[in-house]
Amino acid sequence: MVGRHTEADMAQLILLRGARVFDGVSAEIRVQDVLVEGDRIVDVGQIAPSNGDLKVVETAGAFLMPGLIDAHVHVCGAELSIQRTTSSHWSYLSAFGFNTMNRRLLSGFTTLRDMGGANIGMARALREGLVIGPRLFYSGKLMSQTGGHGDARSPDYDLGSCCGGSDKFAWVVDGVAAVRRAVREELRLGAHQIKIMASGGILSAADPLHSVQFSESEILAAVEEAANHGTYVSAHCHPAAAIRRCANLGVRVIEHATMMDEPAAEALAANKTYTVPTLAILAGLMQQGEALGLPPENMDKLRQVAACAQDSLRLLRRSGIPIGFGTDLFGKTHGLDHTEFRLRAAVEAPLDILRSATSVNAEILQKSGELGVIAKGALADIILVEGDPTQDIAVLEDGDNVSLVMQGGIVRKDLRARAPRS
Ligand SMILES: [Zn+2]
Repeated sequence: MVGRHTEADMAQLILLRGARVFDGVSAEIRVQDVLVEGDRIVDVGQIAPSNGDLKVVETAGAFLMPGLIDAHVHVCGAELSIQRTTSSHWSYLSAFGFNTMNRRLLSGFTTLRDMGGANIGMARALREGLVIGPRLFYSGKLMSQTGGHGDARSPDYDLGSCCGGSDKFAWVVDGVAAVRRAVREELRLGAHQIKIMASGGILSAADPLHSVQFSESEILAAVEEAANHGTYVSAHCHPAAAIRRCANLGVRVIEHATMMDEPAAEALAANKTYTVPTLAILAGLMQQGEALGLPPENMDKLRQVAACAQDSLRLLRRSGIPIGFGTDLFGKTHGLDHTEFRLRAAVEAPLDILRSATSVNAEILQKSGELGVIAKGALADIILVEGDPTQDIAVLEDGDNVSLVMQGGIVRKDLRARAPRS
């Protein structure tokens, strides 16, 4: 009886009254009411409460906005060491992932886009209500070439094909046929998007930062398979040459985009390619990387990337390229999620950052109008914030300032209920 409603399961109406509403797009913050029925927003404006089964939430002028979206996470990224993470037991990685997801939801992130690790089992557990967490858009295992950013083998040890091949986080695949098969396998397992490693990276052992990874024909094969299925490819890219190449080959989203130049910006603009900068992991590793045991050669790669990440973001913004919002945290740097807001604020206006984390990220997820907006017909993923993040984005750094989290019309957190009774 899917899609049929009976009297008994008539959805409850919830009226969030008198909030200062940021709708995910407009610069105009207006005092409005938001009416929720079931899992959807059914009206926004000045709404007179009707009789019947209506629950009224007096917001007392709190800041109301769409639930936040983080477009680059690794919820199962339990350790900084790729090798140690991928050789951890799935039972542990799942527990780590669900813990991360629950924490993120309660801090206001109602949707996460996982860029390697999370998979259909976690999505099923969420769907069946075994655990509570954000909406999860997963990539399954990411794709890497041999010796690429997703190949976990250290060249110092004779691991043969062990622990770098098809492990929990990555397919290590070479050649068009192998790439096609791996992409098709992830799509069979319900991946929402396909993630490829298209340049060197910071945490991997064997790949120079400036290397471009995968051949053009391999990237084109991934793009074609994803498009045939109705989805898209995201590519990890630091150096400008990799960014430019991927944009021109039909990759839809560039992750990190930290080492931009003008020709790369032109390629992104010409191809309408999205970007997802991830500053939180860079700052977190700059502060804690050595203490957390990141080897000197990886620290060196980190410093090169961190040195130009802000200038790259400036260039992206100046070039009018759509910019999403991501964090990319691993290991003990999980928990620094909210630093992304302040780090972005060094370059961008608060309103632009809020749009990135809501409506622009929803576009990236191909969920415009459903997620990342406060509008009639959208899913009722709504948060209340104490303070005004359009004036001071730092209020989002403290999860306690997110006083209410509603996900699909269900209240997941309500700190206001904790207020002492008078
Ligand atoms: Zn990542």
